[in-house]
Amino acid sequence: STPAAVLSAISAGGRQGVLFKGGEHIETAGNVDAIAFDKTGTLTEGNTRLTDVTARESGSSFSATDGGSIDSGLAADPTVEDGSLTDDRLLALAAAVQSRSEHHLAEATVEAAEERSLDVPGVSDFEAVVGKGVHATVEGWTIHIGNPRYVETVLEGRSIDGLEAGLDAVRELETSGKTSVLVVGEPNGSDELDERGATDETDGSGRLSVLGWLAFTDTIRPDALEMIEKLRERGVEQIVMLTGDNERVAQYIAEELGIDEVYPELLPEEKVEHIEMLQERHEAVAMVGDGVNDAPALATADISVGMGGAGTDVALETADIVLMSDKLDRLPYAFALSKETKRTLY
Ligand code: ADP
Ligand code: MG
Repeated sequence: STPAAVLSAISAGGRQGVLFKGGEHIETAGNVDAIAFDKTGTLTEGNTRLTDVTARESGSSFSATDGGSIDSGLAADPTVEDGSLTDDRLLALAAAVQSRSEHHLAEATVEAAEERSLDVPGVSDFEAVVGKGVHATVEGWTIHIGNPRYVETVLEGRSIDGLEAGLDAVRELETSGKTSVLVVGEPNGSDELDERGATDETDGSGRLSVLGWLAFTDTIRPDALEMIEKLRERGVEQIVMLTGDNERVAQYIAEELGIDEVYPELLPEEKVEHIEMLQERHEAVAMVGDGVNDAPALATADISVGMGGAGTDVALETADIVLMSDKLDRLPYAFALSKETKRTLY
């Protein structure tokens, strides 16, 4: 039967907003000496907002050295439908594709289009590529939205107009901590988008071109820095960040929080591999995450912690410990309580 000390720890945790899903987790949590954190929605609020929309030919951020088939001066006034793609039109196309996705970048894109009261067209043939991006058919075009890895794999080997300029822009935005994606268009033999203003070069031949790029930011949780410091004080030897986001953004956040090990651009199964590597060197490894993409890593860790306030159902079901509120100081509390309880058992 469950020792009284464990039962009383479970109820003490409950009063503090920490749900242990079983007495056995208290013992394991007391041994944790390495912790892996997801970034988005865990160390950050997960309230992703769109900050930049740039149609490639819409002026300032379009580089003339791009090899440009597109006249960069055309769309000085983004409201004029003069045969060039406007920022609003780019956002409407992106929102159409993203209306089918539940990813946080997708939600932010759809919200931004709503805020600007844009007419979002219909969409078909939607497909998501995990950790890379999405594509769908919108008004006779295939619209691809994704990161450079998407371009390298899904669009592998195909020539893409304006790719240099797009990648340069994305890299620069990422350096300032903004997650960024390219929007690439490919006419499907229909010139419908052409008439409404895409590029003056599209001829229905299936040629790919960078239509523009989008950038997003998310707020670091105000209590994240203090939590990391407390975990270190309590003797956690290794603290790492495992994220699907790109290296520049991940590095930016990690530096703000004093996390010295960052593993970016990970697919869900790669997060698992990192947990297994940590397990080789540590007594007990905890994983803290909120998303569907964290579920396999959560299941692999010795102790998994879900974020109750904003986490997805999958992450919460997988978790051994759930932080009922999003108060991050409950995490060092949970480990300290477990350690203390364990001590009274032996
Ligand atoms: P994270 O939770 O860190 O964003 P994901 O594995 O969900 O991790 O996504 C990793 C990256 O894949 C994103 O940063 C983005 O570049 C790309 N991506 C995933 N889903 C989408 C989407 N719906 N639209 C655009 N890009 C996406
Ligand atoms: Mg997440």
